This record gives sequence, C-alpha cells and structure tokens, in this order.
Amino acid sequence: MSARILVVDDVPANVKLLEARLSAEYFDVMTASNGTEALALARRAECDIILLDVMMPDMDGFEVCRRLKTDPATHHIPVVMVTALDSPSDRNRGLEAGADDFLTKPVSDVVLIARVRSLTRLKMMTDELRMRAITSLEIGMQAPERSAIADAGKGGRILLVDDRQSSYERLATILAAEHTIDVEPNPPEALFHAAEGNYDLLIVSLDLNNFDGLRLCSQARSLERTRHVPILAIAEAENATRLLRGLEIGVNDYLLRPIDKTELLARARTQIRRRRYTDHLRDNVQNSIEMAITDALTGLHNRRYMESHLATLAEQASTRGKPLALMILDIDYFKSINDNYGHDAGDDVLREFAVRVRKSIRGIDLACRYGGEEFVIVMPETDLHVAGMVAERLRRSIAGEPFAVHKGTKRIEVTISIGLTTLEQKGEAVADVLKRADTALYRAKHDGRNRVVSQAA
Ligand code: GH3
Ligand code: MG
Ligand code: MG
Repeated sequence: MSARILVVDDVPANVKLLEARLSAEYFDVMTASNGTEALALARRAECDIILLDVMMPDMDGFEVCRRLKTDPATHHIPVVMVTALDSPSDRNRGLEAGADDFLTKPVSDVVLIARVRSLTRLKMMTDELRMRAITSLEIGMQAPERSAIADAGKGGRILLVDDRQSSYERLATILAAEHTIDVEPNPPEALFHAAEGNYDLLIVSLDLNNFDGLRLCSQARSLERTRHVPILAIAEAENATRLLRGLEIGVNDYLLRPIDKTELLARARTQIRRRRYTDHLRDNVQNSIEMAITDALTGLHNRRYMESHLATLAEQASTRGKPLALMILDIDYFKSINDNYGHDAGDDVLREFAVRVRKSIRGIDLACRYGGEEFVIVMPETDLHVAGMVAERLRRSIAGEPFAVHKGTKRIEVTISIGLTTLEQKGEAVADVLKRADTALYRAKHDGRNRVVSQAA
C-alpha cells in the first residue's frame, strides 16, 4: 500500500529525516518548507497524508491545519501534527484545529510508520467512496464535504467497553457532556451490544480483566454491522505496544491513561465527524446506484437494468431447467390520454399503472419501464399457462378501475395490451424472447387491444 506523504517543516534537517524514514518504507514523499507552499500542494490533491510541523515562521501548523480542514478540497486529507511540545494544551489546540493525530519529536520510527499506515488505509477507503460518489452521481462532492466541515461532531452515540468501575464512571461522565453514552462493563457482551446498538463510536479499554480488548476490536472490524464504526482504544502507557498492534488491525485512534478530559472529547468528536462524513458518502453511492437502475417517474427498474438482469435470469433458468416467462405491456391509446387530459395526467396514469403492476406480481418477478408507456415483466419459474393467468389478472386490474388524474378530480378509463411468451427450454438469446413477446403484443393491438396474446416458444 503506497501513499504519498507531504512532509511540512521549516527546518531542512527535520524534513530530510522524515523523508528518509518514510522512503525506506516505500512511501512516496513530497516536502514543503512553509504553510503557504503546503496549502498549495494539498489543494492540488497531490497527497494522501500530511505530516505538519507545529512551529513554523509566518503561518504556524495550527493555522495551516485549520485552513486544510475548512477547505472542501482538502478537508478529507488526514493531518498529523509533529510537535516538540507535548502538553495536553498543545494537543488540544491541534485537535481543535482538526488534526487527526500527533507525533512528538523526536519521532519514533515504529509509531511513525504504524500511524501513517493506519491513516493511509483510512484515506484509501475514503477516496474510494468519494470517487464512486462523484463518478456515479456527478453532482460534485460539495454537499457531504460542506456538512462535514460544519459538523461539530457532537450528539453521537457511543459505546464504552471498560470493566473498571472507577474508570468507566469517569469517562462516561466526561463524554455525557456531548454525547449519549452506553457503558458495557462485561466485555464478552460487548460485540453483541455494539452490533445491536447502531453506535457512532466504540471506545474500548485494552486493560480489561481476563479479556483481550484487541480481539474485540478485530471482531468488530470483521462484523458487517460494526465494520464502519470507528474505534478509539484506551490503554495504560505500559500497554503502548498493543496500541500499535491495534492500529494495524483497524483501531482508528487511541489515548493513553491518565486520560485528559479535553483530549478525550476532541478525539471522540473527530471520529464521530469522520464517521458521519463517510456514512454520507456511502449513502450517496447507494443512492446513485439506485438512481442508475431505477426509472424516476414510476420507481420501477429501468430498461438498462432489465436488459442486464434479464440475461442473468435467462441463464439461471436454462441451467436449472426452469421455465421463464416474459411479457410486454403497452397502454392502449396512451397518446390520446396525453392529448385529451395533458401530459401531467399521462404521468399520473403511468405512476398509478406501476402501483397496480407491483401489486400483481411476486417479489422475485422483475418489472421495468421499457419505454414511454411500455413495460416488461419477467417471471422466473413460471410457465406460459400460469403467466397467462397473471397477465389476465393484470389486464383486469387496469381495465376494471378507472385511473384518477389531476389530483383525483378526473377519472379515466385505461386499458392495456399484453404480449406474452416464455424462454425456450434449451436456452435462447434474450433478444429473441423479447422479439417474440413484441410480436404477440402487436397481435393483441391488431386484434382490438385490451387483451392478452400468448405465443409459445
Ligand atoms: P397504442 O394503443 O397503439 O399503443 O397507441 P398509443 O397512443 O399508446 O401509442 P404511441 O406509441 O403512438 O404513443 C405513446 C405516447 O406515449 C407518445 C408519447 O408522447 C407518450 N409518452 C411517452 N413517455 C411519456 C411520459 O413519460 N409521460 C407521458 N405523459 N407521456 C409519455
Ligand atoms: Mg400504447
Ligand atoms: Mg407505444
């Protein structure tokens, strides 16, 4: 996993040192010697992680970080502040500015690489989501980014797994100031609790009695329902090496005891904010997938989806030796509905038609809008006889009850014609099946409309 790291420091020797260590681990390194230069490089989206010195002339690291985190173009890039000062108040200034983590000079190799690796993983995942959301939706990423920048990261739901009463009571009190917090003092129950609770953050103590907190973290990472929930680990200083191991298995952040109140709150906010951002991206991807396969007017599948899915259904039917029925439905004299009542009334009819279709078919049947007022229904494991009954029921459900248009002020009689056929048992190109159904539909129209015509394979 190679990533490009931007190292920012005004002292050339410091830059050289970090550059050498990161290059040795095959990271690609870029450097900047001041904040302005760093901001320009980051804006060009050329780096995955930024290691940022705090004390620099002109613009200090806090200010650079603040600007990176409030700019939609750079806000998603993880920032690690590298500082000679290591007081809680410095760390908190950095966290307030939006920093993702801190490294204290002199920087330990092991900690540096563990941190950079874990942030690289996070960045790659976020990039993947952003890219998919952008390419499929093409609305730009302004919305999720802007709301992430505006989000204070408060009001989250947190599960704290800690079996020491004095510890969890204190932590829960601190966190309750900004979040809803549940405590799980019984570690074997924690995974179940986490999976059921829809949490924004898990805080896991690694100093549990007779229980391996890291195992819990790794289980949470592999379980579908907790996979995307961030984990903040806490441990005694002598357990610090276990924390590094934790970063490898997917722990997002950690804190050493004794825990500083402000830092705990700041780190929890950072994780919760990020969780909401990635959820937002994930929703966008999901929506755009749905948009890509759905017809906006009727909510039925669109033609593109039907065509790709029909091939799969046909193949399944052939290999399993099961029948597959397909019908094309066309609304009769639809053009005159538009002409007499207006295009909006036509749209009302199409929507109501889709509702009635959905009521008449099974969950495994595939209904799609094939063209303007033409629809296709594919029915797995259904022979011509049964499909004929379904088609007839559908025809009656349309013709039997007038359609309300213009907000229910008018009612129109609507009928449909249906052409029906099945897939040849030996397997057959779907285009040929569609053509046969279309021929049957043509006959239904020709024979007077408002009828079903079946054509055996
Ligand atoms: P037939 O009984 O032979 O099928 O006659 P028809 O009038 O239904 O068929 P034709 O193909 O001549 O006309 C279909 C009309 O459907 C023409 C088009 O303007 C209309 N149409 C297509 N898509 C939409 C839509 O999304 N909304 C509305 N309101 N009308 C649409
Ligand atoms: Mg028509
Ligand atoms: Mg037509």
